[in-house]
Amino acid sequence: MTQSARYDAFVAKRVSIDMTRGKPAPDQLDLSQALIDEAGTAGYRSRDGIDCRNYGHLLGLPEARELGGVLLGLPASQVVVAGNSSLELMHDAMAFAMLFGVPDGEPWRKLDDVAFLCSVPGYDRHFAICEALGIRMIAVPMREDGPDMDFVAAQAASDAAIKGIWCTPLYSNPTGTIYSDAVINRLASMPTAAPDFRVFCDDAYRFHHLTERRHASADVVAACVAAGHPERALVFASLSKATFAGGGIAFLAASPRNIDWWQRHLSVRTIGPDKLNQLRHVRFIRDQANLARLMDRHRALLRPKFEAVLTTFDALLGGVPDVWWTRPAGGYFISLYTPKGLARRTVALAQLAGIVLTPAGAAFPYRVDPEDSHLRIAPSFPTLAEIELAAEGIALALLRAIETRE
Ligand code: PLP
Repeated sequence: MTQSARYDAFVAKRVSIDMTRGKPAPDQLDLSQALIDEAGTAGYRSRDGIDCRNYGHLLGLPEARELGGVLLGLPASQVVVAGNSSLELMHDAMAFAMLFGVPDGEPWRKLDDVAFLCSVPGYDRHFAICEALGIRMIAVPMREDGPDMDFVAAQAASDAAIKGIWCTPLYSNPTGTIYSDAVINRLASMPTAAPDFRVFCDDAYRFHHLTERRHASADVVAACVAAGHPERALVFASLSKATFAGGGIAFLAASPRNIDWWQRHLSVRTIGPDKLNQLRHVRFIRDQANLARLMDRHRALLRPKFEAVLTTFDALLGGVPDVWWTRPAGGYFISLYTPKGLARRTVALAQLAGIVLTPAGAAFPYRVDPEDSHLRIAPSFPTLAEIELAAEGIALALLRAIETRE
């Protein structure tokens, strides 16, 4: 059968598979079922005798902050434990900076122009925050070891409107990039025209390895301290994809001054976080080794899905000119690159074949991929059988797009 006939035969199968978002699958969520089944046994009294049913402890339950400190490699005093979402913390940090300014800076809203550096392709929800707050986005090409630092350093040094950069240092969404130590050290040490420049470091995939090797990226908070810019880094992380996506706990880690700043503005926003969920998580996760075991179980479920996509792409797309894809060692995504101008058409053809993909361009500021060549593949949520089918459908859709291009 020709490739074209294979695409038509695939369409005739009338499959229906949603590959739009990087959500954990139900069997991954089952791994943390004890958080629900044993919720009562965690009780409501913390180790220190705190009644977690009541208000208070704005920066998080002390033992949850300790756990966060262990997991993030920082003193507990520099870690805030919050509600269920690190994205919420990123949004609030950006909103606080706009409204009130960061330590030593004026409110960003007072400036005519505020800009952020965004490596592309990147995480669409980072870009949505910038767009919602009127922050101009400057696309930065992503290299193999992180953002193009010559470009970043030149921009940051020359334009005081640039107040920061979005970073996902380990297993970036969607490229799977692992930032090198050199990139992190340069982010920490580069001179910036804006004195209140911030590295928004989204460590969402810090624990999410797809291979036996547990990669790590350099400690950006320590690098900033060493470089004489102690307030530059704000680090965000969560257990959303360790326990429950939407029911985990989130962390913010930063310098003591940034934590004071956060506390000041947070105290207007809330009387305290959900300490009951924090207590349950402390009792369930316990320590780094136990979390690593849980993440190994996630890996056992996720890795076959990634391998299925890669094996199918190798078989159907290997050697096709200008087509290539990433082989991530962690995280939730594979980036698939089509010849220029064919990403949107591939998404449309995949949709005709019953496979819904993230819209082409979604991983770019303002949803515009100037080359129209990037597709974000999210293999986590569908079943393995569905993923095997979807990978074939996506590859056949891309081949059809190439064959019928004008
Ligand atoms: N950051 C990145 C890079 C993500 O990919 C995601 C979810 O897909 C999030 C943050 C969301 O994190 P949370 O659930 O802690 O809000």
